[in-house]
Amino acid sequence: DQGLEKSKENMFSKLSRAVAGKSKVDEEVLDDLEEILVASDVGITTTVKIIERIEERVARDKYVGTGELNKILREEIANLLSENETEDATEFTLPAGNKPHVIMVVGVNGVGKTTTIGKLAAQFNRKGLKVVLGAADTFRAAAVDQLTIWSERVGVPIVKQGMGSDPASVAFDTLQSAVAQNADVVLIDTAGRLHNKINLMNELGKIKRVMQKVIPDAPHEVLLVLDASTGQNAIEQAKQFTKATDVSALALTKLDGTAKGGVVIGVSDQFQIPVKYIGVGEGIDDLQVFNKHEFVDSFFG
Ligand code: GDP
Repeated sequence: DQGLEKSKENMFSKLSRAVAGKSKVDEEVLDDLEEILVASDVGITTTVKIIERIEERVARDKYVGTGELNKILREEIANLLSENETEDATEFTLPAGNKPHVIMVVGVNGVGKTTTIGKLAAQFNRKGLKVVLGAADTFRAAAVDQLTIWSERVGVPIVKQGMGSDPASVAFDTLQSAVAQNADVVLIDTAGRLHNKINLMNELGKIKRVMQKVIPDAPHEVLLVLDASTGQNAIEQAKQFTKATDVSALALTKLDGTAKGGVVIGVSDQFQIPVKYIGVGEGIDDLQVFNKHEFVDSFFG
């Protein structure tokens, strides 16, 4: 399963309660469903979209029994996730053709960015890929320290400079070092200061431009890390980061700590960006490649 906490009430039991004693999906049932989805962090935009799609089905089929609601909702959620999901990967793979494949990792502090980089490094390293880490979050000493610990734990090199040094310069050094070592994949940590959108845009833009002096089409991927347990905050962060830079994939962390998880559905739908990885714990192996079928199963309990 994809990590959602089982002890709390799942979608299936919430739905069962909403339709108790009713045989037909009507206005009232749909209102209850809307509330349930919003309370599960799906977000209002995506919730409305799902409800409208179910309303269309009800209008078309004239009668939809409440016994079918679970199945219909699953289908609609899977459809939404499919609309921006290119494939259901089961393994940690990289697209062919880039050597090194450069992944710039963005997100606000505390969401699990460093941990996700460490876990990804471990997965790629296990596949025999040569990994280099770049500590371009130079604003927090702790960030560089944490990434250094991960590099030692996984056994991959890290490129860093002193505190307060220019993040773009660290990124530049990292790419040069990766090219010199004939590395397969580079993971660049960046500072996630959201206090000023223009600053963020300038900072990430500069890192990109400087990296492109070494590898013209870098970064090949911009991975935005979001904490799934923060619900609407995660959606708000996605808004800011997608405005500041071209986010190409999402990692949703801390799904082990929430029974909600609906943010996975809302964020991928609202921003049309595929969820690629999910974090399901603090350990090195607690990162999974996102699989929508498993996720939907887990979401419904
Ligand atoms: P950063 O500031 O974004 O780099 O965040 P960190 O990687 O330092 O993570 C912040 C905290 O969240 C740490 O205590 C991590 O162990 C924890 N964390 C990260 N990912 C997960 C996850 O998927 N599940 C859980 N339960 N904790 C996580």
